[in-house]
Amino acid sequence: MKYVILVGDGMADEPLEELDRQTPLEHAHTPHMDALARRAALMGLARTVPEGMEPGSDVANMAILGYDPREHFTGRAPIEAAAMGIELGPDDVAIRCNLVTLEEQDGRLVMADHSAGHLPTPEAHALIARLKPVLEREGPFELHPGVSYRNLLVWRGGFSALRGVKLTPPHSILGQPVDAYWPQPPESEGARTLLQLMQKARRFLLSTQHEHNTQANAIWLWGAGQKPKLIPLKARFRVTGAVISAVDLIKGLGALAGLRVLNVPGATGYLDTNYEGKVEHALDALKEGDDLVYVHVEAPDEVSHEGSLAKKRQAIEDFDARVVGPLVEGLQRFERWALLLLPDHPTPLKKRVHTPDPVPFALVRSWEAKESSQVQGFSERAARKTGVVVEEGYTLIERLLGARA
Ligand SMILES: [Zn+2]
Repeated sequence: MKYVILVGDGMADEPLEELDRQTPLEHAHTPHMDALARRAALMGLARTVPEGMEPGSDVANMAILGYDPREHFTGRAPIEAAAMGIELGPDDVAIRCNLVTLEEQDGRLVMADHSAGHLPTPEAHALIARLKPVLEREGPFELHPGVSYRNLLVWRGGFSALRGVKLTPPHSILGQPVDAYWPQPPESEGARTLLQLMQKARRFLLSTQHEHNTQANAIWLWGAGQKPKLIPLKARFRVTGAVISAVDLIKGLGALAGLRVLNVPGATGYLDTNYEGKVEHALDALKEGDDLVYVHVEAPDEVSHEGSLAKKRQAIEDFDARVVGPLVEGLQRFERWALLLLPDHPTPLKKRVHTPDPVPFALVRSWEAKESSQVQGFSERAARKTGVVVEEGYTLIERLLGARA
């Protein structure tokens, strides 16, 4: 028995005037996804982001992997730590450390850029290497370079000091004065310690600006958390598996769920990604004995943040033609298989940010040869029409694995 979870990140959207009130998913040419929808054992809408939680890919994909985010989500950074292979002990805290650009405006510091101009990874690594001793000599801290402006600070044993400390994502305060968003509450030991580290880093980056010549003149700490306690999928459902994605966050989630992380050469997380390589690695993993593969494609989300309809249509059509079609075809070699197809969350082009709205899903079982004339295809509207709503999105995997009807 083989299982596949296929995620088109940010693929869901809202009706657009320029598409005669159709959504990009409805409008795009997607024969393979439509065929899956028509033969689905179950199709409908699923709430992958629990009410009240931030609609991040971390929360949504944690739910799709079968873990209730309300119970298990501890922040973005510990997931990235897992992807980077950084071990966290029970009292350790991982904290996302962005290299950012702050600007002086009317005597106040403003968050000008949460990415320090998307500085290239080699330059960021060089900068982090110089900043590392400056911060690490201040206490049980470790600074780990990541991808471009995204780095990680680990505070060994920092859990009790950081309990109740509120940190703000820098991309949510763009253009705003930062004084209200330093680690809160200012009187807490943990917040004071992080603020001192941020001030030390700023002094260092400003004093060496002429040397490193980048737009990075401060660090911003956020997304802190302990290692999430996830019972591996193998222990829960007796399935082994692999995760395939270009995105560290998804690799980290897969690793925390006990899946092997497969790195596909040329996987970029954008329109130029290696779709064929992803399909090949997925089918090879199943052939070599894995029960389950989690295949995540980032491109639709990236182009949705850009607000480009043409690119979103291309991303959806590429996903259909170069991932869904070949993967379903490749599955024919296996006697029995089941597949779950869905976006992780909507990223509406008009809003250019994620929303927590439920997403369409289709669950297909190879041995159930249904062909519904009711279902138009794979889209938000067709999913809504079925009347099926799975409020607890984290239970979808149980349906896929046959652990729930
Ligand atoms: Zn996403």
